[in-house]
Amino acid sequence: MSWALRFLGVGNASAVKLGSPMAVIEHDGQPWLTIDCGGEGLTAYRDCYGALPDAVFVTHVHLDHVAGFERLFVDAFFNRARRGKVRLYVPATVVPLLHKRVGDYPNVLAEGGANFWDAFQLIVVGDAFWHQGVRLEVFPVRHHWPETAYGLRLQGAVTWSGDTRPIPEMLARFAGDNELIAHDCGLHGNPSHTGVEDLEREYDAATRARMMLYHYASTADGETMRARGHRVAMPGECVALAEPTGPRAELFEG
Ligand SMILES: [Zn+2]
Repeated sequence: MSWALRFLGVGNASAVKLGSPMAVIEHDGQPWLTIDCGGEGLTAYRDCYGALPDAVFVTHVHLDHVAGFERLFVDAFFNRARRGKVRLYVPATVVPLLHKRVGDYPNVLAEGGANFWDAFQLIVVGDAFWHQGVRLEVFPVRHHWPETAYGLRLQGAVTWSGDTRPIPEMLARFAGDNELIAHDCGLHGNPSHTGVEDLEREYDAATRARMMLYHYASTADGETMRARGHRVAMPGECVALAEPTGPRAELFEG
């Protein structure tokens, strides 16, 4: 039972060469749960696994996180085995925003007869959800408007910050079991993202030592953050995770 986190991309919204800021939690070498669905990220996913995702958690609906949904719709809808079975875990307050961004286009197929959501199994989530018998936790982060952006925790294994300003109070609670912490960080902070000086000011050394930073502007910025002593994720990098410690159930396999 091995677990890993693969960074499909590590760039900010402008850093196309570094890929969409998204990742896959792998289990026993197979993709288990994908975090977000950016355009370049979906291409990286297909290049890596030879297919498109079966299960996606959506952190928020900025386009570098949801631009791949039209392609995922086509892939799922026109495949009888996949239609209506690609699981989308979406925080309740994000559902209306996702619908406006990607679900509400008039006539998703030119010939009609289909709804965007027909391709998917939408699972609306609150503070936690179950995926293949494993419980994951969801927590609000600080990215633009309240309750529009969320992080994800697989207890004991990984906490994914999503796009956010520093959130030490959240990580004290949702990364308190020695998780690897994948954290938004660029060289320069701004009102919606963490900068390296913010990171160094807001988190203690022990917490920073568990972090891998992603969502930066350029390879050069990544090198500069590395030179400051931080672990900076590379596009495509896959890191081993500890065995999850949270609740499990054998009730059903999703
Ligand atoms: Zn964002």
